[in-house]
Amino acid sequence: MKAFLEELVNQHRPSVGEGKLADYIPQLSEQDPTALGISVRTCDGEVYSAGDCPERFTMQSISKVITLILALMDRGGEAVFERVGMEPTGDPFNSIYKLEQAPGKPLNPMINAGALVVSSLIKGSTVEERVGRVLSLVRRMAENPKIELDHAVYYSERATGFRNRSMAYFLKEFGMIEDVEATLELYFQQCSIAINCDDLAQMGLCLARLGQNDAGEQVIPRELARLVKTFMVTCGMYNASGEFAILAGIPAKSGVSGGILASVPERMGIGVFGPALDEKGNSVGGVRLLKGLSRELNLSIF
Ligand code: GLN
Repeated sequence: MKAFLEELVNQHRPSVGEGKLADYIPQLSEQDPTALGISVRTCDGEVYSAGDCPERFTMQSISKVITLILALMDRGGEAVFERVGMEPTGDPFNSIYKLEQAPGKPLNPMINAGALVVSSLIKGSTVEERVGRVLSLVRRMAENPKIELDHAVYYSERATGFRNRSMAYFLKEFGMIEDVEATLELYFQQCSIAINCDDLAQMGLCLARLGQNDAGEQVIPRELARLVKTFMVTCGMYNASGEFAILAGIPAKSGVSGGILASVPERMGIGVFGPALDEKGNSVGGVRLLKGLSRELNLSIF
């Protein structure tokens, strides 16, 4: 398996040249565009990795999975899905255009508009407390208490996140968000949580085991582990989710830093990283690694 993963990384490393670093968050353009890594953790306790696995990167949109879990734990499904839908969208992740149309309810929690609404629902009396709760769930799912925020990326996005600010104010106008500034602070900070491929693989494993950690404790409720994997299949790769479902068939969530969290129910968690992105904002090399692995090990859930 280890040799196979190494071969896969070597085979797909040249493809990263076809992608581009995200630069609308200036700090992300400092990443190494040639990096590519994969980590796998199976339900049988096997651990494999290849390529640039120890390298740290920020969660970005992958954090949307975590905040959705937390908001559902805090408020329940009725309150959350009153404000955010369950349908995929053919629009880019940061599209603002549908927000102009009443009722201003974002289509799903995996696009920025939906994730802003979800973050606004996370409980806590201060932004610090709310960020702390998100961080704590990430640490428990990844089984890594050392995970922290990358402050340089946080400040970089905070200083330049004009589109997300606009979206949040549109959402406020429609009554979907109350405290816009606190929500944006929380959102920018959750996106800047720094992890590596091993952390992602462990988080994917937690979802694959229906919310259980290595010790068999229930970190998140079973039904929520199932629900977020469903969103990952239908919306996790933005407007490339359909093609990814056909070619890889694995619940997955990507972020613009180049990471992808993937989870194969009852089999394994997978973390990949390759910051060179395609035009839809997904890691070029990362998508290829997941397709290749799925083909070889027959991982499609369909
Ligand atoms: N922080 C990023 C943004 O809001 C996250 C987007 C992403 O990873 N696709 O633009």
